[in-house]
Order: sequence, then structure tokens, then C-alpha cells
Amino acid sequence: MRIILIGPPGAGKGTQCQRLVDLLKVPHLSTGEMLRAEVKARTPDGIVAASYMEQGQLVPDPIIVGMVSRRLQSPDCRHGCLLDGFPRTLPQAETLDDLLERRAMSVDGVIELAVPRDELVRRMLARGREDDDPEVFEKRIASFEVQTAPLLDYYARQGRLASIDGLGTSDQIFDRVKAAVRRFEQATRAR
Ligand code: AMP
Repeated sequence: MRIILIGPPGAGKGTQCQRLVDLLKVPHLSTGEMLRAEVKARTPDGIVAASYMEQGQLVPDPIIVGMVSRRLQSPDCRHGCLLDGFPRTLPQAETLDDLLERRAMSVDGVIELAVPRDELVRRMLARGREDDDPEVFEKRIASFEVQTAPLLDYYARQGRLASIDGLGTSDQIFDRVKAAVRRFEQATRAR
């Protein structure tokens, strides 16, 4: 299964991704994590990426697309993967479709973790993490609403979107995630 998990910052994607990779036994491709590793190792890409990440802005596509396309070519991704944090824009989604199509692959389904804005801000304040600068957090939410939300339409039109309620306990949310995965399995078989 090749699944994308989309959600605004603070929606609880990290927890659900962890549970989903354990269930599906596929690699977890998190562009945020890949970028943080590049930043830490002070690679040329990492140095450029850091200046965008500190501002809550998206890192330029050439860096992201290069990173993802290299990762998708590894043998462990042949039978599926969980994409987390990518695609984040319409051009990235189109690039992903091209990359997969060239390998006779496709996206099986997209899960949206829907959480209202007020709740995201409340969670961020409660978390009080050092990297949760309220101003940067607001920018990341705005970037989600402007650049990433249009993707939901893109995948809905392809009949691949499952929007699930991101409020509740981790178990309740994971039950909804599992139900979405079962629907993707049926849809993929029918295609
Ligand atoms: P995340 O951990 O997914 O929230 O990502 C942390 C930061 O990395 C984001 O705020 C962006 O600056 C950058 N980033 C992660 N994924 C992407 C992407 N697909 N496109 C552009 N920038 C990204």
C-alpha cells in the first residue's frame, strides 16, 4: 500500500504515522525528518533548507523532490510506503504522480486528519515545545491552509481521499485510520 497522510501542524500525524507503519509494515517517508537529518549533518541541502524551516516556510521543490525521488527508488519502497509531509503543494502532488507512474506505481489512498484551527493552537500552547514559536506555528498553519489544503480537492477528485476526524483518543483516531485503509484496499482491488 502506498498511502499519504495529510494534516495541519499539531494534528497528531506523528503518532498515527507510527501506528500505521507498524500495521502496514512499510517504510515511513517523512520529509520533515529527512530535512532535519540534512540540517543536522550540515549538508549543502541542509544549510539551504534550514533558512526556510526556521521561518515556517516551505523548502524549495528541487531539494524536496530530489530527496523523495531518491528515497522512492530504494528497494524497501517497492511494495509500498507511508508518505508523511509530502506532497505539500499541488506541483509536488503532480511530480509524485509522475515519479510513481514511471515505475508503474500509484498512490492507493490519502488520509486527511482534520482538526479545527482553534484546537491546533490550543495543543501547541499546551505542548510548549521549544521549537513551537507561536509566530512560526501560525505561519505553518497558514502555509497548510493556502498551499496544502488544495491537495485535498486534487485527491478527492481522483476518488482517493478519506477525510477523518482528528479529535479523540489515539485509539479512536487509529480505528478511523484503519477503516480508511480497508476502503483503500477494496478500491485498489476494484481498479
Ligand atoms: P514537518 O515535520 O513535516 O512539519 O516539516 C517541517 C518543515 O520542513 C516544514 O515546516 C517545511 O519547512 C519543511 N518541509 C517538510 N516537508 C516539506 C515539503 N514537502 N515541501 C516543502 N517543505 C517541506
